[in-house]
Amino acid sequence: MRRAVEVAAGAGADVPIGAVILGPDGTELAAAHNERELTGDPTAHAEMLALRRAAVPLDGWRLEDCALVVTVEPCTMCAGAIVLARVGTVVFGAWEPKTGAAGSLWDVLRDRRLTHRPEVIGGVLEEECSALLREFFRGHRRSE
Ligand SMILES: [Zn+2]
Repeated sequence: MRRAVEVAAGAGADVPIGAVILGPDGTELAAAHNERELTGDPTAHAEMLALRRAAVPLDGWRLEDCALVVTVEPCTMCAGAIVLARVGTVVFGAWEPKTGAAGSLWDVLRDRRLTHRPEVIGGVLEEECSALLREFFRGHRRSE
């Protein structure tokens, strides 16, 4: 999670959310921060980019034995993609009561109607992860 926080801090004009994907042996396969502002892509959330990047060295879309570590609870889009990629474990930092789809607003990751359900661990380094967001949005309000 410290690595994900470090990646998030490099997001520049984007909301500081970072994601890292670890392979079955614990090596880092991919890392990404939000790039929505950078690329103008509405789907450029950290998790989506990390999933795409991790599939390259794995040479396939199945991330079954991989762990995705992200600084903030995934939204519905990312949770959907995580399920489709069959990610084994999801670890996230701050809870996101407004958009979270891993237990807050919805629980897409553990929906019993879906055939794949990753293991989910939330609230890891929660304070550090949410502090990044607080500082970012405080800065934004000041500049408006
Ligand atoms: Zn998302």
